[in-house]
Amino acid sequence: KSKAVGRNALRFFDPAMEVSMLERAALETDLRDAVPGRQFLLHYQPQVDQHGRLTGVEALLRWRHPLRGMVPPAEFIPLAEEIGVILPLGRWVLQTACRQLLAWEGRPETRRLSIAVNVSVRQFSQHDFVAQVLEALASSGADPRRLKLELTESLLVADVGDVVAKMAALKARGVGFALDDFGTGYSSLAYLKRLPLDQLKIDRSFVRDVLKDQSDASIAQTIIALARSLKLDVIAEGVETREQRDFLARAGCHAYQGYFFSRPLAPAELERYVRRGGYAAAAPALSVPS
Ligand code: C2E
Ligand code: MG
Ligand code: MG
Ligand code: MG
Repeated sequence: KSKAVGRNALRFFDPAMEVSMLERAALETDLRDAVPGRQFLLHYQPQVDQHGRLTGVEALLRWRHPLRGMVPPAEFIPLAEEIGVILPLGRWVLQTACRQLLAWEGRPETRRLSIAVNVSVRQFSQHDFVAQVLEALASSGADPRRLKLELTESLLVADVGDVVAKMAALKARGVGFALDDFGTGYSSLAYLKRLPLDQLKIDRSFVRDVLKDQSDASIAQTIIALARSLKLDVIAEGVETREQRDFLARAGCHAYQGYFFSRPLAPAELERYVRRGGYAAAAPALSVPS
């Protein structure tokens, strides 16, 4: 018995665990301090339609830490959710994306771009979430039809009626909705028909091996067929090669996002990408039955 306790005690003082707790505590302190500062920025990743035209971008949060450099979202978004920092941060993302939309609306070459903004469950669940989005739109003067919100299936463990009501209120103003990372969550297909969605995003994990793994190929084809029969747009994320794009195009995919087209770009880089003619000029897409 004492041996077992000893083992537990040893495990409790596992130095690796202690480091990770200290590390976490340090990151948490920095994250709390970073919000009012100027350490956050948005990068924008191009989204390209089946004709190779740039139709919009996804806003992706970046944390430029004074000592750690760029901290990837996977390392701080879950923590930001846990400690509630995601609420002011998410509000900042919405406001910044809306201001960017207005700036791009003022120039002919970027006028038609939409911006997709990731919304966390905790953020969406706030009672005044709809008001926050409308406020970001109103104070910037951006066109609501250019704003798209990306939700995940994890939202659906909450009150679906409340989710639908908030979505409907924003949709009435023209805001669009995409279901992100589709296929990785737990949602039932019954929810899918209740949500006023515009787009499904095929998760990157199915796209990665779409040419090598028959199950991933089947899942991608099934999501595309499902989206099309529900009259939803479908976009594949994480497209890194022409072959992946071609496979998805043959399956009827409407749009693509991934390193094959472009990495997420700072605003000035995105503007350069547009001026160069983006992806379309480099390689015309193959034609797809619409
Ligand atoms: P996501 O919304 O699924 O975003 C797509 C992620 O895939 C981005 O990672 C993007 O850089 C990456 N990606 C795009 N194309 C490729 C590709 O061809 N290959 C590979 N390997 N990766 C690709 P990122 O920027 O690290 O963001 C990770 C996640 O963090 C996002 O996943 C999203 O869930 C979350 N996130 C990012 N920005 C925000 C935000 O403003 N608010 C909230 N709540 N979450 C955010
Ligand atoms: Mg997303
Ligand atoms: Mg995604
Ligand atoms: Mg993903």
